[in-house]
Amino acid sequence: MNRKQKKSLIRIIIAAVLLILLKTAPMPGRLSIILYLAAYLVIGYDILRKAFRGILNRQVFDENFLMAVATLGAIALAVYERSSDLSEAVAVMLFYQTGELFESYAVGKSRRNISALMDIRPDYANIEKDGKLERVDPYEVAVGTVIVVQPGEKVPIDGVVLEGTSSLNTSALTGESLPRDVASGDEVISGCINMTGVLKIRTSKEFGESTVSRILELVESSGARKSRAESFISRFARIYTPAVCCGALALAVVPPLIRLIMGLGGDWSIWVYRALTFLVISCPCALVISIPLSFFAGIGGASHEGILIKGSNYLETLSHVKTVVFDKTGTLTRGVFEVSGIHHNRLENEKLLEYAALAECASSHPISLSLRRACGKELDRERVRNIKELPGKGVVAEVDGVSVAAGNEKLMAGLGIETIPCRSVGTVIHIALDGSYAGHILISDIEKPHSKEAIAALKRAGVSRTVMLTGDADRVARHTAETLGIDEVYSELLPGDKVDKVEQLLSKLSGKARLAFVGDGINDAPVLSRADIGIAMGAMGSDAAIEAADIVLMDDDPLKIAKAIKISRKCIRIVHENIVFALAVKFACLLLGAFGIADMWAAIFADVGVMVLAVLNAIRALSAGRL
Ligand code: ADP
Ligand code: MG
Repeated sequence: MNRKQKKSLIRIIIAAVLLILLKTAPMPGRLSIILYLAAYLVIGYDILRKAFRGILNRQVFDENFLMAVATLGAIALAVYERSSDLSEAVAVMLFYQTGELFESYAVGKSRRNISALMDIRPDYANIEKDGKLERVDPYEVAVGTVIVVQPGEKVPIDGVVLEGTSSLNTSALTGESLPRDVASGDEVISGCINMTGVLKIRTSKEFGESTVSRILELVESSGARKSRAESFISRFARIYTPAVCCGALALAVVPPLIRLIMGLGGDWSIWVYRALTFLVISCPCALVISIPLSFFAGIGGASHEGILIKGSNYLETLSHVKTVVFDKTGTLTRGVFEVSGIHHNRLENEKLLEYAALAECASSHPISLSLRRACGKELDRERVRNIKELPGKGVVAEVDGVSVAAGNEKLMAGLGIETIPCRSVGTVIHIALDGSYAGHILISDIEKPHSKEAIAALKRAGVSRTVMLTGDADRVARHTAETLGIDEVYSELLPGDKVDKVEQLLSKLSGKARLAFVGDGINDAPVLSRADIGIAMGAMGSDAAIEAADIVLMDDDPLKIAKAIKISRKCIRIVHENIVFALAVKFACLLLGAFGIADMWAAIFADVGVMVLAVLNAIRALSAGRL
């Protein structure tokens, strides 16, 4: 509990004790009224102040206004009737504040759960200077600096291990509880906790660009993107509250007037009392509070599993996903190619690979990374000029004055170079030197360990159609799709073709059904933003992908897609339950109140009760990931 919560707890206790005393011990009228008023002010002064401010700011109709009018009205009515019992006004405020306290506690708790994720924010980085460690602000560390991370500390900035071995706890980032072993040469991302050894890391990014900063930005801004249910509720409250106030006014005035006209006597105080009860009942707190809280909890629960959802609107869309479209390389496959053959070369194998690797030196495509790794040499970028990357085709560049083209059939066809086909299955990188064919490098990729299971899990989660789009050759594409159990496959697509295909698939959807595209952002960032929901691979995905995507999977595990869908469905179900439940109770109470069956006590009990139940229900969304 924080200070503010403690303070309101103390106020609640004081008011409750006073209320019980006054209710049980008879007292002279004056004294009793004074004590009741004291209790009322202790528990309700802030509501009165807020209501008054709201009137000054011309934002009259909020729950503070409702509570203030109802309780002040109840006091006025009691005084008018010469009763010294003001317990009703005190009780209404008391219960209302108890509800508020509970809510702020619950919200704080789920925020703290999300902050457990926020806890990944590192406060400092260690730099070694003259044999001593110095703590510096991570913002001040330049790219390429060597930082030292000791056991128990967080990795503050993304980088590559230079020295040392250790195991890293990545659970805050990925939900994966097994530690990951790293040694020199391995990439590490910020936010992991170093558990065993001392690591020297050469930073590869600035702090602001590092994984940690990006995640925090995503989570912090997720509240800004409102779901339809949320904006429904705020629009609803804007109309509903004034409407109820008008209703209350009508209830206070119309029936007594009619009775007067009919000569039955006004009975004003009965009807004013009913109108005030009406106001108490009408407070829409349960909805206003529980719906954003459910989404918030859902997003928090998902982030615990390594699934970052950028806004509650995406959670809502995700729950309607019926078609999932995948990119192949880097999404369903690891995107770590091994060179499995070098054929038809006029040069030595090594030389061909070196040409290819040099031409690829500026690309971030997984193929490029794999060729450079296979080459194994330190690449001198000075030798390479005029690099041009043709997305979905390959690269052309000038290496040592020789023009090198490395890519697929499409690239070669574009250059008018005849290729010799490869008989083995795998991704083929054709190489041409100075416009004549020099041979090809056969590389092969393997599926991610969970890809097959991921497709099956999606089917079980009610996704009716799975599609794979790839720029790779048909033979490889079919092979992958068959192994994984994907329904449809389209191959040899350029990035623009992928957009067209997704648009076609989108146009075939009916009703509420939605389409999700899952990619790593390399040659598919446009598709990520075109789909109803773009899901990007966070660890290996490009920055562009993480920007363009609506949902980011921190550990690149495709199995998380089905999990994300399940979380979204559970969260939406909770939201609907709360809407229906709260509205049903409200309308029932409004009716009972109007007919004088429910008094103010019953009203406030119903209101706080509904709110507490709705909030408890909302909090269930936090554990939606553990299904
Ligand atoms: P995917 O859709 O499977 O992710 P891409 O669209 O990224 O594949 O690439 C499609 C094909 O284009 C690759 O299979 C490869 O043949 C060729 N290609 C793309 N980029 C490069 C590159 N940098 N070097 C060589 N070939 C490339
Ligand atoms: Mg790709």
